[in-house]
Amino acid sequence: MSARIVSILHTEYVTPDVKRFTLERPPGYTFVPGQATDVSINKPGWEQQLRPFTFTGLPEAKRLELIIKIYEKHDGVTKQLALLRTGDELILHEVFGAITYKGPGYFIAGGAGVTPFIAILRDLHERKKLRGNTLLLSNRTSDDVILDEELTKLLGKHFLKVFTRQNVIGFHERRIDRDLLVTLVQDFDQHFYVCGPDDFVSGINGLLLGLGARSESLVFEQ
Ligand SMILES: Cc1cc2nc3c(=O)[nH]c(=O)nc-3n(C[C@H](O)[C@H](O)[C@H](O)COP(=O)(O)OP(=O)(O)OC[C@H]3O[C@@H](n4cnc5c(N)ncnc54)[C@H](O)[C@@H]3O)c2cc1C
Repeated sequence: MSARIVSILHTEYVTPDVKRFTLERPPGYTFVPGQATDVSINKPGWEQQLRPFTFTGLPEAKRLELIIKIYEKHDGVTKQLALLRTGDELILHEVFGAITYKGPGYFIAGGAGVTPFIAILRDLHERKKLRGNTLLLSNRTSDDVILDEELTKLLGKHFLKVFTRQNVIGFHERRIDRDLLVTLVQDFDQHFYVCGPDDFVSGINGLLLGLGARSESLVFEQ
């Protein structure tokens, strides 16, 4: 697919540092839930700075949606994305991605790594096929959870959250470790979808394999 220039129709912050972009959808533009695209900003000097982001909207929706974590502290593309508003333009390049739905299982995400799972879970909900799926999310604090309300509504008790840092008295910091997986997952003969920072993905995959998950049942971006 050749590069497409699209207008930003709407932006809003969904957590203190995560911004949602609603974009116009070019005719004939297709993607599979879980797939990403390389994006650049249609402003002088930024057109060639490509960064990957995942479509979070439904594949047949009238608009495209991206949910993007902004890194304010360094001078990258996301810092520029923070400045964009309705009417500014993005350039969408190649669509790609290995994370697609293969069947019911466990979705394990670190931070903004939840974006491909938002797309997949919304799509399953739309097709009434959400049953049998669980989302386990690791975030720094409860304020960092992306679309908390919607995911809670979709998944109910199958939406599990752990927080690595929390300034609440009596709260225990928790990481996704072997003990937690043993307690929560129980059945390791199912699909596991893992997404987040590289060290998060390799750490979780290692734990899952050690607990009996089959490598062909692990779905993640290589
Ligand atoms: C297939 C795929 C899909 C993705 N989908 C999404 C998505 O839907 N939403 C989303 O938010 N992200 C997504 N990402 C991650 C996203 O691409 C990166 O966060 C983005 O490229 C960062 O761009 P940047 O120019 O702001 O940062 P860059 O300058 O490119 O830096 C990249 C990373 O390096 C680190 N870093 C670099 N310099 C510094 C510094 N000075 N201080 C601290 N940290 C630093 C940051 O952790 C940052 O994530 C996806 C990544 C991949 C591979």
